[in-house]
Amino acid sequence: MNFYVLTLFPDMIENAMKESIFGRAMEKKILSLKTVNIRDFTNDKHKHVDDYPYGGGAGMVMQAEPVYNAYQSVLDEITDKEKKPRVIYLTPQGKVFDQKMSEELAQEENLIFLCGHYEGIDERVLEMIVTDNVSIGDYVLTGGELPAMVMMDSISRNIPGVLNNEVSAEFESFHDNLLEYPQYTRPEEFMGKKVPDVLLSGHHANIEKWRREQSLIRTYERRPDLLENAELSKKDIAFLKTLC
Ligand code: SAM
Repeated sequence: MNFYVLTLFPDMIENAMKESIFGRAMEKKILSLKTVNIRDFTNDKHKHVDDYPYGGGAGMVMQAEPVYNAYQSVLDEITDKEKKPRVIYLTPQGKVFDQKMSEELAQEENLIFLCGHYEGIDERVLEMIVTDNVSIGDYVLTGGELPAMVMMDSISRNIPGVLNNEVSAEFESFHDNLLEYPQYTRPEEFMGKKVPDVLLSGHHANIEKWRREQSLIRTYERRPDLLENAELSKKDIAFLKTLC
């Protein structure tokens, strides 16, 4: 999978994404990341990429031309000319990103992220190139770089080979609309607090049952809204009833 990021701050993205799991996946060539500096595509002699908003008002707006040219440079590079890649504009006005969207986007071969700054980007170029408007939550950030990184990190976890343990993404929070059970590691006792006995028992069926119940308790207590869309067995429903 190839990620392309159109941004005014390429170093911010490259420095962060070269670390950890995403960085290792790039080294292993499971995925690639290319940042495109929008400022390199302005014809302005002072390298300006923003201007005052028509109609007045506070702040500056990113101009259409450098954004369009930066996008075109990515299209020129992509070998599959038949299928236009999805272009995700990070914006607080978009659909809120979640695990389902992350899993769906992980099926794409190429993804282009467009990071705004200032008051945003001239609407005309957005109309021309953007396929998906995506927000990472109902709050306003300074730029689209952090949201793009959040999305790429999450999407990459769904790509086969990125995680060492292939099954781990499957059991994580949100995969089936339940939160994950609590995790413990050595030592067995920390400041008088012991690891639950069942996890030390070696009895796999009991461990699985305990984890499922903990998952249900956690979701019920912390995110009861998720339960509406969770896949629940009769056993799960009976257990949840004991919590009410
Ligand atoms: N004036 C814009 C509005 O009210 O919708 C907000 C602009 S914001 C200060 C600058 C840039 O940050 C946006 O163009 C977008 O790329 C990014 N951004 C801010 N909040 C975001 C969020 N919650 N999710 C995704 N991107 C966001």
